[in-house]
Amino acid sequence: MDVFTKKRLAVASIVYWLLLFYIVAALIWWFIALEKQNHQTAAYKLSELKMDDPAFQTKYQAIVEARHLKDIQYLGEGGIFLIVILTASIFVYQAVRRQIRLQNQQENFMMAITHELKTPIAIAKLNLETLLKYSLPEEKKQKMLQATLQETNRLNTLASNILVSSQLEGGRYRITKEELELSDLVKTAINDFRNRFPDRQFHSEIEPEIDMDGDALLLQILVNNLIENAIKYSPKEGIITCKLTQKNRTILFQVLDEGAGIPDDEKKRVFEKFYRIGNETTRTTKGTGLGLYLCKKIVEDHHGHIRVTDNTPRGSNFMVSFTAKHAHEQ
Ligand code: ADP
Repeated sequence: MDVFTKKRLAVASIVYWLLLFYIVAALIWWFIALEKQNHQTAAYKLSELKMDDPAFQTKYQAIVEARHLKDIQYLGEGGIFLIVILTASIFVYQAVRRQIRLQNQQENFMMAITHELKTPIAIAKLNLETLLKYSLPEEKKQKMLQATLQETNRLNTLASNILVSSQLEGGRYRITKEELELSDLVKTAINDFRNRFPDRQFHSEIEPEIDMDGDALLLQILVNNLIENAIKYSPKEGIITCKLTQKNRTILFQVLDEGAGIPDDEKKRVFEKFYRIGNETTRTTKGTGLGLYLCKKIVEDHHGHIRVTDNTPRGSNFMVSFTAKHAHEQ
């Protein structure tokens, strides 16, 4: 958040609290004034009563009763009014804060996305120009092509994340569910990562023939995003483990890494749109905060659940569960 936004926010908060204070004070003042008037009117009516009036007792009772009823009326109306004002002010305050936070995250997202788009394009362009201009030894050529391919893959993931999440949100993506073999889909994804990241260690435990009804493209995005995060947020020497199992009708897909893990109070928030742990100055990794949001959306569209727990001794354990059409025959 820039200094100007912070200042504007501080001024808006002060004005808001002052206004609220004024409204509540006016309400209390109104209540006291009405009560005073009520008691004065009753006292005046009582002083007007004649002691020798045969209906004195009845009239006296009626005045006291009317005063009492008015007391209750003012207290009730004032109380309800106060509750309405306070509830509404809490809602408004929370909505404004949410809006500001979202706006702030959106700004960060725009900055991140510009960078994320430009870097792979710049690297790929430079590599291709070098390859065209100079005749390099075969090994160097391969290395450069590999690097270029990795950058275009990054670009590809980013583009599908942005497109698919905006389409899913706008209801423009037509989910096409078909029976597919999840075991194959996961295996293919892991092999793809093994080729893309030959210096990383992948360990996989995939039960064969696990089928489910789903959208192949979306499930690929889900698996890719989780594995990509495991790579991104764990050290080079850390092992990345993918597990796919089925017990009765519950399919469980897990991606475990040996990185720094996710603190408990952030475990739910990482699935929010544009949310990234830490702030702009402490973060060292690149990203947009869209990946896990999209993962959650995809899982929910497949009536599944996603959550993250700690891996032992360190790291994160992302767990996705789906319901299979048929129980697995063991
Ligand atoms: P991005 O990676 O683009 O920042 P994501 O939505 O994929 O966005 O992730 C949100 C945040 O959750 C990340 O910024 C990171 O701080 C945290 N995170 C995601 N995956 C992991 C992981 N495997 N280990 C530790 N932190 C993670």
